[in-house]
Amino acid sequence: MSTIFRKELSQEALEELFNCDEKCLEFLAELKWSDGFTCRKCGNTNSCPGKAPHSRRCTKCKTEESSTAGTIFHNCKFPINKAFYIAYNVCKGKEDLSTYEYARRLSLRQMTCWNFKTKIEHAIEQMDTLTISEKTSIQKIITS
Ligand SMILES: [Zn+2]
Repeated sequence: MSTIFRKELSQEALEELFNCDEKCLEFLAELKWSDGFTCRKCGNTNSCPGKAPHSRRCTKCKTEESSTAGTIFHNCKFPINKAFYIAYNVCKGKEDLSTYEYARRLSLRQMTCWNFKTKIEHAIEQMDTLTISEKTSIQKIITS
């Protein structure tokens, strides 16, 4: 999980991510395909841009993969930039914010924040129990 934020991000870059869902998708896409694209279905390495912003489409089997697929942000029911804010603070934050505080800051329901925070914490716990090779394979982006 913390590998998402392994790169030290400047305060401006963070503000940008926290305020713009499209920036978050772009950030995930860059991270996910930093070593190039490999289709999860057929293994083809050629892709073209997909329909959704910052998604990729396999040129062979036409499967589209979003930048959030296989990450903790997949199927997130609230704006991804808000999810990023929670994820960043759980991983890197200097203060341990309560889910009530997240809810207040992000105008979300407390339960929503609690659910997502728990999901992140579980992901971090799972990371700790993995073997090194397992960790390496999911190092770039945590699977949800
Ligand atoms: Zn394919």
